[in-house]
Amino acid sequence: MSPLEILRTRFGYSSFRLEQEAIIQSVLQRKDTFVLMPTGGGKSLCYQVPALLLDGLTVVISPLIALMKDQVDALRLNGVQAAYLNSTQSGAEQDAIISKVLSKEMKLLYLAPESSFFRRLSSFNVSLVAVDEAHCISHWGHDFRPEYLLLNQLKQTLPNVPVIALTATADKVTQRDIIEKLALRNPAVFVSSFNRANIRYTVEPKKRSFEKLLGFLETRKEESGIIYCLSRVATDSLAADLAKEGFNVLPYHAGMEKEQRARHQEMFLRDDVKIMVATIAFGMGIDKSNVRYVVHMDLPKNIESYYQETGRAGRDGLESEALLYYTYADVSKMKKFVEIEGNAEQTRIYLKKLDQMAAYGDLVTCRRQYLLNYFDEPAPSYCGNCDICLTQVEREEGTVQAQKVLSAVTRLQERFGTNYVIDVLRGSNSAKIMDDHRALKTFGVGADTSKEEWVSIIRDLLAQGYLAKSDGTYPVLKLTPKSAAVLRGAERVMLVRSKEKLPAPMMQVAE
Ligand code: ADP
Ligand code: ZN
Repeated sequence: MSPLEILRTRFGYSSFRLEQEAIIQSVLQRKDTFVLMPTGGGKSLCYQVPALLLDGLTVVISPLIALMKDQVDALRLNGVQAAYLNSTQSGAEQDAIISKVLSKEMKLLYLAPESSFFRRLSSFNVSLVAVDEAHCISHWGHDFRPEYLLLNQLKQTLPNVPVIALTATADKVTQRDIIEKLALRNPAVFVSSFNRANIRYTVEPKKRSFEKLLGFLETRKEESGIIYCLSRVATDSLAADLAKEGFNVLPYHAGMEKEQRARHQEMFLRDDVKIMVATIAFGMGIDKSNVRYVVHMDLPKNIESYYQETGRAGRDGLESEALLYYTYADVSKMKKFVEIEGNAEQTRIYLKKLDQMAAYGDLVTCRRQYLLNYFDEPAPSYCGNCDICLTQVEREEGTVQAQKVLSAVTRLQERFGTNYVIDVLRGSNSAKIMDDHRALKTFGVGADTSKEEWVSIIRDLLAQGYLAKSDGTYPVLKLTPKSAAVLRGAERVMLVRSKEKLPAPMMQVAE
């Protein structure tokens, strides 16, 4: 069977996403492979599909027992022989699993990095090792777990077995560190784009944030969302306050009883409750496609966390919101709490990452660009879908204005430049205006709009391709194939509304 056939028959999906197929090919060629792909991108299939194509066992290293259980349950539902081994199981349970491993019935085995079964791996006929959440091995990452360091023995224990390391969060330094600590040999590296184009990033001052939040939620009553708070106390009280206001909401944090937590999560996944007010304990491994917004009432510790938490919105690809209430006071407060025991280096990294998070709140340039650059990904300075891009460049209905310009250009037989066209539109008394142009139907139809505004409207029409400019020393305005539909009234035109924030448009257009 081919990887695609496995995907279709065993997982029920019709095609691969992003770089899944190339990654799977790399693994099947027994290459060490490094995968950086955003949360929700589909990392699991990158080792699950090979697991079903390879002869032996695929061992998956994963940090959280709860996540292992979810993954294994999902695989079993698809009829895949999978299991995990951990300390919560009885000896008999473990023996049953190991005998299936030894008789080669088992295809996937999940282990925590500190598992005592590590020593026995060389007797297990292992074909592939997948290290999930691989950033946990690096001090440079934001979620270092000392037990992951045990994995630096991996290549010694299983020298001829390919390793695939996967993470959703690693800057360049962390990437190199992961590759080095796992001793990957000449790995194939796959880095997917981190851009989540359907998520709109917005930051608002954290002042009267509860009232602001009510306003935000008011128009989203039918939609699912997650609201993150820093503390358990704040989580409980915000959930209670929202419930008082009539919202369908429940809290979630690690201080709650396990059963209650599981119940709340289940209700959220089933859409029985719309809003989950939660600490960061909520979300790891949550796979709900229709989360429409993620709100942060308090500042996250670092960009990695912020990106992961906001990334839980809009997995279905539909328009979604990421809203942060920001004040520098949060930064000062968090700095006071920092005390990573006896480790100056860790503290330094923590503080640096916190400052980078704060800088996000203070941005006056595109937030998406900042996020992507943070992950070493190049990005344009305008995304059109963050508050900065949208407030500085807000669009409004401008069809009538556009029609005025285009019909003036038509009547002037496409022989004049911007300034002359504007003079005609404004009905200028300027001596330059030729007498037959004073008689044009369009003469003076734009007197209600200032010259500066016409200049920016024409620039915008040029940028959007409704107008063109001829080459040469005295460029003239020309119609384009897109002009006709606007003149007929068959196409709406949205124009940039220039705000005070932008520099005042030039009085004279250099032509
Ligand atoms: P990650 O580990 O990268 O956060 P997952 O492996 O959990 O992501 O996948 C996220 C979701 O996308 C899952 O529901 C998964 O079943 C789904 N998915 C992954 N690959 C595909 C695909 N090729 N086609 C359709 N759905 C997919
Ligand atoms: Zn932007």
